[in-house]
Amino acid sequence: MRLEARGLVAGYGHLTVLRDVSLAIPPGCIAAVIGSNGAGKTTLLRVLSGLILPASGRVWMDGVEITTWPTERRVAVGLVHVPERRQLFTSLTVEDNLRLGAYLRYRREGRARVEQDLEWVYTLFPRLYERRRQLAGTLSGGEQQMLAIGRGLMAHPRLMLLDEPSLGLAPLLVQELYRVLAELRAQGHTLLVADQNARQALRVADLAFVLEAGQVTRSGSGAAMLVDPAVHAAYLGSRTRTPSEG
Ligand code: ATP
Repeated sequence: MRLEARGLVAGYGHLTVLRDVSLAIPPGCIAAVIGSNGAGKTTLLRVLSGLILPASGRVWMDGVEITTWPTERRVAVGLVHVPERRQLFTSLTVEDNLRLGAYLRYRREGRARVEQDLEWVYTLFPRLYERRRQLAGTLSGGEQQMLAIGRGLMAHPRLMLLDEPSLGLAPLLVQELYRVLAELRAQGHTLLVADQNARQALRVADLAFVLEAGQVTRSGSGAAMLVDPAVHAAYLGSRTRTPSEG
């Protein structure tokens, strides 16, 4: 699914956070939004998923304008937001959380399709299968993040917005998570990832946008961004590679 936004201005009350943000994400790619705390990444995802309305600007999905569509209507056509801090139902089991992700689909597509997707999510995240009867609140942070993504997948997204997916995860789990995101791309999904872990996000991103004080100040392929000196200085720290890292 192609997502396009032009001239987005948005914020909270008198606080303007996004100032004229435009971007286009072609189908089947991973796009990354990088930026420091408070740059407006979360606000951008909220506007795209319909959680807040922009003061001005427009959003299209596959050429259809969705700027004022409510969130539920966007989910129904495959635009799904996996919010920061997971927002799981902690007193329900892993499997019930996953099923809730598909609640809009039961009537339309029937139980069999939803069960198939449950199997698919368990294949992507075997750990969730092992823990399927466990209460979501008892999972580790990394497992909860996987469950949040799994629940998003149960809505059958064509385009998934992921807010800080690697927040609080151990390095190995971050790699595991990005492996799954790359696999989703290979299956034809489009993903927009806002991650503080810029290095990891840029490594897999086909396309990346730098958001600074509510404006896109740079864009290009993830690979180009990784070697862009300004991006390096601002978001990738001064860590230099050792020869063994290649
Ligand atoms: P972070 O990584 O810290 O979440 P971010 O780039 O996602 O940063 P936003 O969460 O979009 O940034 O926040 C941008 C600005 O909007 C910040 O100044 C923040 O305090 C403010 N803000 C965010 N959410 C709200 C809200 N619900 N009400 C009022 N102000 C908000």
